[in-house]
Amino acid sequence: MADKIIKPNLKELSFSDSVSYYFDRAAPFTNSPKGLLDQIKACNSIYKMNFPVKWGNRVEVIEAYRIQHSHHRMPTKGGIRYSLQVDQDEVMALAALMTYKCALVDVPFGGAKGGIKIAPRKAPVEVLENVTRRYTAELLKKNFIGPGIDVPAPDYGTGEREMAWILDTYMTLRPGELDGYACVTGKPVSQNGIHGRTEATGRGVVYALNEVCSHEDDMKKLGLSVGLEGKRVIVQGLGNVGYHTARIIRKYGAKVIVVAESDGAVYDEKGIDIEHLYKYRQEKKTVKGYPKGKVLADTAGALELDCDILIPAALERQLTIKNAARIKAKIIGEAANGPITPAAEQILLKKGILIIPDIYINAGGVTVSYFEWLKNLSHVKFGRMQKRFEEQTQRNFIKLVEDFTGKHVPRNRIQQIIHGADEIDLVNSGLEDTMIEAYRDIRAFKKRNKGIGDLRTAAFAVSINKIRDSYFAMGIFP
Ligand code: NAD
Repeated sequence: MADKIIKPNLKELSFSDSVSYYFDRAAPFTNSPKGLLDQIKACNSIYKMNFPVKWGNRVEVIEAYRIQHSHHRMPTKGGIRYSLQVDQDEVMALAALMTYKCALVDVPFGGAKGGIKIAPRKAPVEVLENVTRRYTAELLKKNFIGPGIDVPAPDYGTGEREMAWILDTYMTLRPGELDGYACVTGKPVSQNGIHGRTEATGRGVVYALNEVCSHEDDMKKLGLSVGLEGKRVIVQGLGNVGYHTARIIRKYGAKVIVVAESDGAVYDEKGIDIEHLYKYRQEKKTVKGYPKGKVLADTAGALELDCDILIPAALERQLTIKNAARIKAKIIGEAANGPITPAAEQILLKKGILIIPDIYINAGGVTVSYFEWLKNLSHVKFGRMQKRFEEQTQRNFIKLVEDFTGKHVPRNRIQQIIHGADEIDLVNSGLEDTMIEAYRDIRAFKKRNKGIGDLRTAAFAVSINKIRDSYFAMGIFP
């Protein structure tokens, strides 16, 4: 029924046109000169490559991209995606989103993205390794990678393993480069990565939703209680972002009632044991046959079930003109990049759904990548210099209180109080602060600009203003 009532006046756009559409919609709220807006929006460098790899007893020509959307800050930064869907339009869109995302959360990088057209779950590991190493060599040949040039990270279909191959290839071809470890982030901790990077995007999504749900007036409008406690959540995608989001949001008292994967969805009103489901899927390579709850064959349909929060964490264009009217969630957190098309967004907003945009909610990954890059450039683990000193200072303070009061603080309380920050404590604290501050900026901007209407437009406007200011500071645009 609802499909017939709400009709968007927009057609479905390509992914990169969608990002441009969001930019244009926000631009009038930024008070920026047209020439400057054109510069911010334009895509700076596109490197498309084709190279051969041996695949069994045949040779395959691999299509790959690295696109740097903006050089207003250097280095540029963005993940590398392995998927058969990769094409220039997709990588351009993702690179542009990186520019706006970095600016929004004050990560001082320009936006970039890479993509290789390959099915990572079907290709043999040795082919994936050869492709990754060759891709890195191609990037180096054209000066498209380096700690001060362009710094890749994981994205869909890639993870720590691929980042370790990139690092190893880079260090082999650039021996002795002092800051070489900062050429890529999302590395294993043993390869100069940072604690907390693997789960950072999912953790950031939860910090963001926790902040969103803490505003009583916003929750009241949605008919929801304050906080994540008791919220019924649907997650699409049990990969890096979806798994960690689902796992961590349960610790805040939310119930994940659906996990939708590509080959089926698991539904359990009592709440899914995420670690158990994750292990099952790792072993069986499918969610089919999962013994707890119900397995639904219609995985796309599972997104339409009743819930408080829907978290698409798989790919772009999952909520379109075809299914938007049937979505029942009150809040949608875009953990994936571009999961909602602009036409679908019109329908969802008219239904009163609160959409938390991708450029904000999934910025935790690049935020902690920034911390990793800083760690690599400083050549020292966070917390190493001050942890013991902080603990001793706290101990001295407790001793002083005990001497003055004549009372003893119990030993177990002392241990809790004096604990100096480890790397993971500092990373998570920096991440949480980033997500809270950025949301407050977006929400305040939306409140100040009554005509804005939605959080995505506000987020783009805040971001464009920050980029505009960095151009103004350079004196390029009077
Ligand atoms: P991933 O490869 O680790 O996981 C993606 C999961 O989605 C896989 O398990 C896959 O089977 C599943 N999937 C694919 N199509 C599906 C469908 N139609 N329905 C249900 N499930 C489906 O990828 P990821 O790193 O988790 O990235 C997911 C999204 O988050 C992407 O849009 C990516 O750009 C975005 N993102 C990732 C990071 C990061 O740090 N990895 C950071 C920011 C944004």
